[in-house]
Amino acid sequence: MNILDSLRPIPGLKVLVTAGASGIGAAIARGFCEAGARVHVCDIDRVALDRLATENPDITISTADASSERDVDLVFDDVRGTLGGLDVLVNNAGIAGPTSGIESMDAGQWERTVAVNLNSQFLFARRAVPLLKASQSDPCIVAMSSVAGRLGYAYRTPYASTKWAVVGLMKSLAIELGPQGVRVNAILPGAVEGDRMNAVIAARAAATGVTPEEMREEYLRKISLRRMVTAADVAAMTLFLCSPAARNVSGQAISVDANVEYL
Ligand code: NAD
Repeated sequence: MNILDSLRPIPGLKVLVTAGASGIGAAIARGFCEAGARVHVCDIDRVALDRLATENPDITISTADASSERDVDLVFDDVRGTLGGLDVLVNNAGIAGPTSGIESMDAGQWERTVAVNLNSQFLFARRAVPLLKASQSDPCIVAMSSVAGRLGYAYRTPYASTKWAVVGLMKSLAIELGPQGVRVNAILPGAVEGDRMNAVIAARAAATGVTPEEMREEYLRKISLRRMVTAADVAAMTLFLCSPAARNVSGQAISVDANVEYL
């Protein structure tokens, strides 16, 4: 295989993307589809899933709350039928969680953030690993962390705590599964242009008494390249990590963030 070909995932790769009906997950699912992979997407939002499947008829779908053990089991029942095995798990599910100081942090919101951002990664990895071990196609897991998984993030402590934990899970699984040929890496996106980032900026602006425009400028000042990243940037890194060119890349936390200096 020549070097340029090795930068693409091999056609026919069997890929499961969690929370992939919109945002970064959908960009990843579309990217794998374009590369000739077979893609199954699960998400909690049935309407968004149906839209994705209508636009991309080759993508198969399951409705599931990524934090629910029962739902995750049902997703793997579907995957057995649609893909008949698994080469790649993209553990993408994650919510922004509450914006609050620690003293007024709601315990229920804390627990929900842990359930969706961290427990989901455990639940999907646990069910995926037997299938990945049986794969003949350089199997791998890509775990979606965040720039908040390498920096402290005031007023977003549940989010930052879970994203650091995702890196710990990834590092540990990379060591555990390496001898069986399964690679595990994490991507740490910075602020991604889109609805979710706009909502985070609006919430942070409201909490600190500035306008959303001023808050956006404040965000950009923290980034060396003075720009946010796109979902396509994160999808491209995901595809690279699942390509033959990355066959010796494992246990790595890779930032795609235009170099965020502080949060
Ligand atoms: P998003 O908020 O756009 O949501 C993507 C999808 O997640 C939606 O389709 C939604 O229905 C689904 N979802 C939400 N809760 C779910 C649940 N419990 N079970 C199943 N699906 C659920 O997310 P995004 O911005 O695309 O982020 C994707 C990942 O990237 C997350 O892990 C996020 O933490 C991480 N990330 C995002 C950014 C950013 O700026 N957007 C930055 C760094 C890291």
